[in-house]
Amino acid sequence: MKVDWLIVGSGFTGATLAERIASQLGKKVLVVEKRGHIGGNSYDSYDEHGVLIHNYGSHTFHTNSAMVWDYLSKFTEWRVYFHQVRTVVDGKKIPVPFNLNSLTEVFPPKLAEKMETLLLQHFGFAKKGPILKLRETSDAELRFLADYIYDHVFYRYTVKHWGLKPEELDPSVTSRVPVFVSRDNRYFQDKYQGLPKAGYTAMFNRMLSHPDIKVLLNTDYKEVEGEIRYDHMIFTGPIDEYFHYIYGALPYRSLRFEFQHLHQEYYQEVGTVNYPNDYAFTRILEQKHLTGQKLDHTTISIVHPEKYTAGVNEPYYPIPRADNRNLYNQYAEEAKQLGNKVFFAGRLGDYKYYNMDQAVARALTLFQHIAAMGEAEKP
Ligand code: FAD
Ligand code: UDP
Repeated sequence: MKVDWLIVGSGFTGATLAERIASQLGKKVLVVEKRGHIGGNSYDSYDEHGVLIHNYGSHTFHTNSAMVWDYLSKFTEWRVYFHQVRTVVDGKKIPVPFNLNSLTEVFPPKLAEKMETLLLQHFGFAKKGPILKLRETSDAELRFLADYIYDHVFYRYTVKHWGLKPEELDPSVTSRVPVFVSRDNRYFQDKYQGLPKAGYTAMFNRMLSHPDIKVLLNTDYKEVEGEIRYDHMIFTGPIDEYFHYIYGALPYRSLRFEFQHLHQEYYQEVGTVNYPNDYAFTRILEQKHLTGQKLDHTTISIVHPEKYTAGVNEPYYPIPRADNRNLYNQYAEEAKQLGNKVFFAGRLGDYKYYNMDQAVARALTLFQHIAAMGEAEKP
């Protein structure tokens, strides 16, 4: 079998590139996907009770990129949705990112007012600051607040989720959820936020429905390696796996999702509730809040962090740390040797903690390179 482009993986990265290459360059694309469905970790489906669930953890789409939003809007309408998360501290469900509303929930009024003034002076109105930065303050009262947030919101959650302390990870990880000097309880403040109106899978189906795209499900690249001839390949699986772990395995973190169906309209007040301090799990998710589905029953999923073992569970998270990046760089050097024959992209191919919009932006940028390459190759 011979194709123009072989794409390994049908998540946001693979689907975007397949769609662009088929529709814009008129090339034949074969997508091989080892799972029994398209969509990667953003896949959603109806469970046996008719509840639309996110099989691999809640996925909220948010972006500041008009390019990404406009691109995906070709394949879906949107349900406007602003995600909210609560975290359980001393028995109270307080807003995260930790904000001025969280302050009033955990401290007596006078102390909360004092801390609010300090935060306004330190960061400024409506500003965000990473917790690890706030802990560097020389102001004793602010340091008290920083330590309180670090101890009650970040420390144990991070140890459970990553198996590492916050300072053992790249600071970009905890700064995803900064201290926010505002009363805005939304998890994200991006310009565009929402969910595909008919679900992610429906959107992926439209992206991949081009007549020049064929999708082979339940097919691991390992099974077809050497059997399918191609001009070019895009690999969106783990880059270390592609190179047969020649420099050693890159570390990932995995999760286990425990689904429970409940005979009540809602289980919790918002889509995600975090449990940093109690239990071995980190989060309870209820996707009905995200999808807006109206039912008198619900399904929740409880998120249990796990050690990743290749072939046993899924590599959900690359682990952002300098030593892992150095190891990745060795694989990136190998990738360079393959020139324009094989490209790597996506959360696993680039070993980067991408959100969905970042995966799409990366794919669209790679597509520009590919399109320019095609022009250069023309006789
Ligand atoms: P993936 O979605 O991982 O797709 C890769 C695909 O390649 C998979 O389908 C895999 O089966 C396939 N594959 C791998 N190896 C092979 C092989 N050897 N052969 C064949 N196929 C292979 N982002 C947000 O913006 N908002 C959120 O709320 C959000 N929540 C998340 C929650 C969780 C629990 C996780 C894990 C991620 C979340 N993300 C979220 C991130 C989002 O899932 C990623 O940005 C996105 O999935 C990246 O797309 P991708 O195509 O690069 O990778
Ligand atoms: N985090 C935390 N407590 C929280 C929320 C987040 O410690 O209540 C930290 C934790 O290290 C987490 C990181 O911030 O892994 C990023 O959180 P985010 O919600 O972005 O994680 P994701 O949704 O990608 O799992």
